[in-house]
Amino acid sequence: MGIDAIVSPTQPPFDPAATPPSTGAAASQQRRAVFLDRDGVINRVFVRDGKPYAPMALEEFSIYEDAPEAIARLKQAGYLTIVVTNQPDVARGKVRGEVIESLHARMHELLPLDDCLVCPHDDGECQCRKPLPGMLLEASERHGIDLHRSVMVGDRWRDVDAGRNAGCQTVFIDRGYSEQLPEHPPHHVCSSLGEAVAWILSEHRA
Ligand SMILES: [Mg+2]
Ligand SMILES: [Zn+2]
Repeated sequence: MGIDAIVSPTQPPFDPAATPPSTGAAASQQRRAVFLDRDGVINRVFVRDGKPYAPMALEEFSIYEDAPEAIARLKQAGYLTIVVTNQPDVARGKVRGEVIESLHARMHELLPLDDCLVCPHDDGECQCRKPLPGMLLEASERHGIDLHRSVMVGDRWRDVDAGRNAGCQTVFIDRGYSEQLPEHPPHHVCSSLGEAVAWILSEHRA
């Protein structure tokens, strides 16, 4: 396995001056974040029998047209933009960690992201696989994020439930997969990242 749990393979330079201390900081001093699932939110997935599958190689990694502008709008509004992605195919031996790292290097080139956390585990192996909130909690510690003023955006039930379990607002991008719905109803349902961002910026105006 080429990557460790919830450690970004391509974490951008950390600027301590830009981030308040995570312990003892009043909520008003803490940052807001939008947590973004990766597959089906930022990049296209392959749908077979109604189920989405992640790209398995750099050549298969294709970002939705609306992603760069949508994420730039979040940045302009003062949100940290942080990808939190389950990649269980690493634990299952279907994809090497190095491939995930190359996809994420490309993703950071194309999009103004502040961080990217990866869970490479399968069910029952860790505290970070969504719907568990471990990646959101880790990001909150790392960047001084107020989770209650932050939002999780995803296209599957695990994303919505991870957001709820971390105390965030949640947006479900419904791409019509044939699978279970979130245990917790999302705060908003829409059909693209651009629509999700429009809702976030209307609902969460400072
Ligand atoms: Mg997804
Ligand atoms: Zn994990």
